Amino acid sequence: ADSVVCAVGRALDHADAVRRLEVRANADTPEDAARARRFGAQGIGLCRTEHMFLGERRKLVEDMIVARTDTDRDQALAALLPLQRKDFTGLLRAMDGLPVTIRLLDPPLHEFLPERTGLAVRIAAIEAAGGQPEPHDVELLDAVNRMHEENPMLGLRGVRLGLVVPGLVTMQVRAIAEAVVERTRAGGSPQAEIMVPLVGAVEELRLAHEEVTRVLAEVGGETGVTVRCPVGTMIELPRAALTAGRIAEEAEFFSFGTNDLTQTTWGFSRDDVEAAFFSAYLDKGVFAASPFETLDREGVGRLVRIAVEEGRAAHPGLETGVCGEHGGDPESIHFFHATGLDYVSCSPFRVPVARLEAGRATLTGMDASDSR
Ligand code: PEP
Ligand code: MG
Repeated sequence: ADSVVCAVGRALDHADAVRRLEVRANADTPEDAARARRFGAQGIGLCRTEHMFLGERRKLVEDMIVARTDTDRDQALAALLPLQRKDFTGLLRAMDGLPVTIRLLDPPLHEFLPERTGLAVRIAAIEAAGGQPEPHDVELLDAVNRMHEENPMLGLRGVRLGLVVPGLVTMQVRAIAEAVVERTRAGGSPQAEIMVPLVGAVEELRLAHEEVTRVLAEVGGETGVTVRCPVGTMIELPRAALTAGRIAEEAEFFSFGTNDLTQTTWGFSRDDVEAAFFSAYLDKGVFAASPFETLDREGVGRLVRIAVEEGRAAHPGLETGVCGEHGGDPESIHFFHATGLDYVSCSPFRVPVARLEAGRATLTGMDASDSR
């Protein structure tokens, strides 16, 4: 077994010596970040902040999104701020010196709000028994009914939520900035980057970017510590890829969200890849492999290429990476290498495979013409 471990170690060293693609990891906890680092990750390419709003914080999130008054919402945001600061401090400590790309909140709303039918049934049962339901529950049901979406994945998600809920972007960016200040004062070298999700138009990114810039400067003024965080965007909607030249004016980096990009390019719900119809459809041979597993080069890949070319033309030096599941898929990694991306980001356990594959991609010598 020892000799196998040595052989793998030598192969990884060799791959690291030749590969051009950087390998980062998708991680949202200090534990995952530390694990990714042990596997050789060169940073966090995607920290999803959604899970940080579940569990005990759920009630605060309800108050933030369906707030009855501005005061309720501001109180919920004020309570979330120190919790988020602690989340980010832990991540920046675990990844000290390496980039940590923190994505602003991107939940499909249905994962955050109480389930509508359950709430309605509970209230109806109390009323039927002659009782008085909690006024908070009644108001909540009313709000949830108003916010109900038939297609939550195409609804109030990503930057849309950030622009619609006052104070949400401000709270998250302040938490990131304060965590950077805390780590800097502790002698660390925090490298936080801020990523805006589900952008479809440059105007959305511009609005979010302005708020980020304002808050970073505000925290810098309060603390006397200069906080510099590159601001970039996910490219995960076809419209974002097709208007990448405009979007690049407001972005320091692009990160391809190939999960959503595949879903929206094909019009297949990513939540239904396990559904019976999807496997029946796979058997028809329309695609060689599920486009959610191996990047579809003709469609999704073409959008990635267009976005890289137009983004770089408009913004020389624009950094580009991928953080969808495809970032850990060997065949897709060859495509990303050939397309000239700077990094792939994948689950911590896939980091070694991605390092090897990125090395092989260099050695097999594909270039941009092969990615077509
Ligand atoms: C993606 O869409 O590819 C992505 C990385 O974001 P998420 O999976 O969180 O939607
Ligand atoms: Mg996405």
